Amino acid sequence: MAAMSSVNPATGEVLARFDEIADAELERRLALAAATFRSWRRVPLAERAGRMRRAAEVLEARKDALGRTMTLEMGKTLRSAVAEAEKCAWVCRFYAEHAERFLSDEVLPSSAARSYTRCLPIGPVLAVMPWNFPFWQVFRFAAPALMAGNVGVLKHASNVPQSALAIEAVFREAGFPEGCFQTLLVGSSRVQRIVEDPRIAAATLTGSEGAGSAVASAAGRVIKKTVLELGGSDAFVVMPSADLDAAVATAVTARTINNGQSCIAAKRFIVHEAISERFEQAFVKRMAALKVGDPLDAGTDVGPVVSEAELRKLSEQVDAAVKAGGRLLLGGAPSGGRGFYYPPTVIADVPPTSPSYREEIFGPVALLFRARNVDQAISIANDVPFGLGSSVWTREPAERDRFVDELEAGATFVNAMVASDPRLPFGGVKRSGYGRELAREGIREFVNLKTVVLQ
Ligand code: NDP
Repeated sequence: MAAMSSVNPATGEVLARFDEIADAELERRLALAAATFRSWRRVPLAERAGRMRRAAEVLEARKDALGRTMTLEMGKTLRSAVAEAEKCAWVCRFYAEHAERFLSDEVLPSSAARSYTRCLPIGPVLAVMPWNFPFWQVFRFAAPALMAGNVGVLKHASNVPQSALAIEAVFREAGFPEGCFQTLLVGSSRVQRIVEDPRIAAATLTGSEGAGSAVASAAGRVIKKTVLELGGSDAFVVMPSADLDAAVATAVTARTINNGQSCIAAKRFIVHEAISERFEQAFVKRMAALKVGDPLDAGTDVGPVVSEAELRKLSEQVDAAVKAGGRLLLGGAPSGGRGFYYPPTVIADVPPTSPSYREEIFGPVALLFRARNVDQAISIANDVPFGLGSSVWTREPAERDRFVDELEAGATFVNAMVASDPRLPFGGVKRSGYGRELAREGIREFVNLKTVVLQ
């Protein structure tokens, strides 16, 4: 079986290697998932909630060590990695508290004596997850799934095996039965077989379009439900009535969060022409002032990108954008030296003919566009295949309503940065995927909504 490596993006050093599990071990784990489901689904919700609260405590008690594991494996700043562990504790507590209400029977009057719906668990769910938020992406699936009475098997990205094993350990330590949540150290070539396995009830995937399409196709062939949370190229629209200072400061954070590698990072900044010059100058100045460096240092704003391959891809996308006629205002080439560093980069007026105009750019690279009016701002914002989040900055109610109604995205945040929140549904339209995570909608994705009629 192929080896999986944990490589520190800040240095390029190999930290650890793991062998993929053999077929016999995969079989054992799938059998255990199926067996555990049969008993876990009968465990009362209050007892599930107790363990989920304990998982939150374990995450909080271990947040520094878990944060370090994330930082060393994928390069996010230690500060943000510790915050990620805390956010995972939040989602565990959120579902511990609200699952019962979200899943409760709903009476629906009909001609029968009594009719209602009941949410029942469906079985082991496969989660195929990416490296960019190595804990959060997993917990936002696992907390609702386990509270609903399902069990989870995780196929994490091959470059974060230590995070994957640490997550499994958190659930064990919290007192969940062994088969409730298992990490499968397997490469992507073995995912199709797992999806097809009759013991797997459904699959959820966060990652690229290619991976989403592969898993959804495999699941479609065997009629299994999927939820897909794929890429994004979110618009950040700024209109003349906006608080410009707040918009600029938030724009910089929204682009560079997680070293620029977030599905809901603002990636395209569409600014009304009346303020575009001022926005451009202030934005470039702030992007230039960011401290790029070792993600373990408390003062670092932007660490490395995740891998040499991602660094190369990012460079190619920037080169293509500039070659096509984009105006390079900052950065524009890898930092060089040790580690996979790319500096904050700003490119204005990339023409729609450049492939980089429509692709997801996963790194601290911002594209700036000018718009004459609301119509043009909306049309540029919608001119990509993605539809995940969107942020608009305006104090005009009529403008705001047009953006809310017409931006093709799963979320519109007004005068704020897009962020996921356990209390709010999260997901996309177009090629950003389908289905919703978090909130009531998230826990009800993987249930059998049974109609019950009593006569
Ligand atoms: P991938 O989408 O390839 O990886 C995400 C997960 O899917 C990993 O667990 C991966 O496993 C798995 N996977 C990949 N291909 C398949 C397949 N054919 N069948 C089953 N599972 C599969 O992301 P990458 O890390 O390769 O990143 C590539 C690009 O994707 C980035 O540059 C970015 O644009 C985008 N991306 C977007 C994310 C977002 O949140 N919007 C998150 C991650 C990536 P394995 O690691 O073993 O290949």
